[in-house]
Amino acid sequence: MQIVLTEKQAREELVEVSRLCYSRGYISGTEGNFSIRLADNLILTTPAGSCKGRLGCDDLVLTDINGNSLSEKKPSTELKMHLVAYHSRSDVRAVVHAHPTAAVGFTVAGVSLSQCVLPEVVCTLGNIPTAPYATPSTDEIPDSIREYVQKHDAVMLDHHGALTLGKDIFDAFYKLETVEHFAQTMLVAHMLGGPKPLYASQVRKLLNICSVYGLKQPGNADQLVTAGFCQPDSEN
Ligand SMILES: [Zn+2]
Repeated sequence: MQIVLTEKQAREELVEVSRLCYSRGYISGTEGNFSIRLADNLILTTPAGSCKGRLGCDDLVLTDINGNSLSEKKPSTELKMHLVAYHSRSDVRAVVHAHPTAAVGFTVAGVSLSQCVLPEVVCTLGNIPTAPYATPSTDEIPDSIREYVQKHDAVMLDHHGALTLGKDIFDAFYKLETVEHFAQTMLVAHMLGGPKPLYASQVRKLLNICSVYGLKQPGNADQLVTAGFCQPDSEN
């Protein structure tokens, strides 16, 4: 069941997650942007050029579903990519965009995070694709993610950041945490000789028991075994 927040609740949650992202080091300075879809397709989002660690409830910006501000405050120019997710999927009620160090480091080095390695990541996110490089703040960014947000709740932006989608703002934030934690685990694995992905049969089993954990299968579940993100069983 979808829970639609009051504007007051949404403002409080958006400020809490903004501060969490800043204090966890997922953004620095005035980086990052966050949004929640309210009833009537209104969007509550963080203002342009602001430090997200110091926001108050009154600093947030209300826009229509096309990103037009309904007050004098300006939303981030990167709100465009949030809107792609909202326009593409009715189940997305919140979007988080940040620059987590280890995960972004993988894109800078050209090393993929799209591997089935940790059961929890397989069950919650499936694989984590990287959208091609695009110039920040331009229409290149929404265009670069359009095909990925249809089936993925977490997408890396090459040489830039991470985008996570959720049924609420905490769900989107937890997915960002999962992405960065996964990247840190992968970094250690690379230092120790390289990650060894799960076998295809292990991934199939995981997908079958997602419901036991109260999870629906990730939207990209159908690609996990066939697209080379795990090891073939013949090598087991
Ligand atoms: Zn960014």
